[in-house]
Amino acid sequence: MTASVFAGGQRREGSTGVTGEVINPADGSVVDSMVLAGADDVDAAVAAARQAFPEWASAPPVARSTALNDLARRLESRAEEYALAETRQTGKPIRLSTEFDVPGSIDNVAFFAGAARNLEGKASAEWDGAHTSLIRREPIGVVGSIAPWNYPLQMAMWKILPAISAGNTIVLKPAEITPVTSLMLAEDCVAAGIPAGVVNVVVGAGPVAGEALISHPDVSMVSFTGSTGVGKRVMELATPGVKRVHLELGGKAPFVVFDDADLEAAVHGAVAGALINGGQDCTAATRAYVQRPLYEAFVAGVADLFQTVRLGAPEDPATDLGPLISRRQAERVGGFVERARAAGAKVVTGGEAPGGELAAGAYYRPTLVTGAAQDSEIVQDEIFGPVLVVLPFDSDDEGLALANDTVYGLAASAWTTDIFRGLRAQREIQAGCVWVNDHIPIVSEMPHGGFKQSGFGKDMSMYSFEEYTNVKHVSLDITGEARKPWHRTIFTA
Ligand code: NAD
Repeated sequence: MTASVFAGGQRREGSTGVTGEVINPADGSVVDSMVLAGADDVDAAVAAARQAFPEWASAPPVARSTALNDLARRLESRAEEYALAETRQTGKPIRLSTEFDVPGSIDNVAFFAGAARNLEGKASAEWDGAHTSLIRREPIGVVGSIAPWNYPLQMAMWKILPAISAGNTIVLKPAEITPVTSLMLAEDCVAAGIPAGVVNVVVGAGPVAGEALISHPDVSMVSFTGSTGVGKRVMELATPGVKRVHLELGGKAPFVVFDDADLEAAVHGAVAGALINGGQDCTAATRAYVQRPLYEAFVAGVADLFQTVRLGAPEDPATDLGPLISRRQAERVGGFVERARAAGAKVVTGGEAPGGELAAGAYYRPTLVTGAAQDSEIVQDEIFGPVLVVLPFDSDDEGLALANDTVYGLAASAWTTDIFRGLRAQREIQAGCVWVNDHIPIVSEMPHGGFKQSGFGKDMSMYSFEEYTNVKHVSLDITGEARKPWHRTIFTA
């Protein structure tokens, strides 16, 4: 049993009396359990964050940067521990935790250690000749952040780092089914010299602890990563307090293959892009549109490669694909596939859970679907599983129109060897990130965020400071005149 609250540098038990379990989806074993946090615990965490704010907000940037650099070193020395904890609570393959989640997170910390020292306003000038203008970027206050279960450590980083490096303090509510690495991280923040109260964590149910956090009067900004449905609720709850809102929501990334594409690159890119993290990735390739001349070969190539993917125990370095987050999620994914099949789509490969040794886990085979209608739910809705739907198109106009034909706009890719087609695709596809001839890679220096119902605001990069700071215009009179020319609007003489 672990304490579910980290507030003011102290771990304590939650107050709801409701026990939450962290389950390893590979075998159903209990990884950890805790009494979940509720509104009282949120109050305590917000109070700690509020108390820590003035000192942290006025700390010189170098002090924040030094602590973040220390945190990066600390995480490096515990990298294996973090990777294992992440794998146990999510079921993701250890290769992914070790080579992607943990190093990506450490790189984020290193980036924001530098960024903290580069946060500046626009250069000053005398726009009207009578005043010098300055721009200050000031922290907003206590940030309430809510994160999902698919990349628990990285999502905690994306929330915490821009907030605190800009001088805010934060209360993070991780997904209650994957809280382990967020709690480890909060403790490491204090060990690294980030003052107690700057980073606080409450582990509780969304409708209980989550809603209490968003609605709390001392929370000045809400940053949410999760599904579009819950994002709408978050926005609603933030409205009475006119709080700043940052939403990173669902995705349904298109993967557009033009007829001059490098077929081998596109097939490999589609398989890796669709199956990363079991497809439980908001930017995963989910809808491949392939121009007619390459369509058959693309489907055959993906089907062949899907068969070579090794399902297995997450802690085995040879495993390519682990279980999904829960049996419920595996059943949900299976439901999409069955309904598509019933509506006349073809399940080319997969479309089932494996039996045998893996039957006790939340596994689902890599699944390739063709022949679905563009307006069907398997094409339009977020599945969050290892399912790729492939549809053909004829003209470039049609391919790009299909790519834009969902409510989402988080990420997309275009595959072509023709520079002009690539340039057109990156311009016309409505998404926060468009890859050309690749799909998935991200870097700390570049922003991540959605268009349309995938949300607004940016994670990572210097752009994230747009969310986590207030811009203040300071105007200084440089004339020293008691009577200014503009006073004539009031005084005639
Ligand atoms: P979810 O929306 O169910 O939950 C996300 C978080 O919100 C959890 O911590 C949950 O406890 C909390 N929550 C649930 N109900 C709430 C409520 N009423 N009030 C406040 N908080 C509440 O999403 P999930 O299933 O955990 O994660 C998967 C979703 O996250 C997918 O839609 C995926 O696309 C999205 N996602 C988006 C990004 C991005 O950067 N855009 C990144 C990762 C995941």
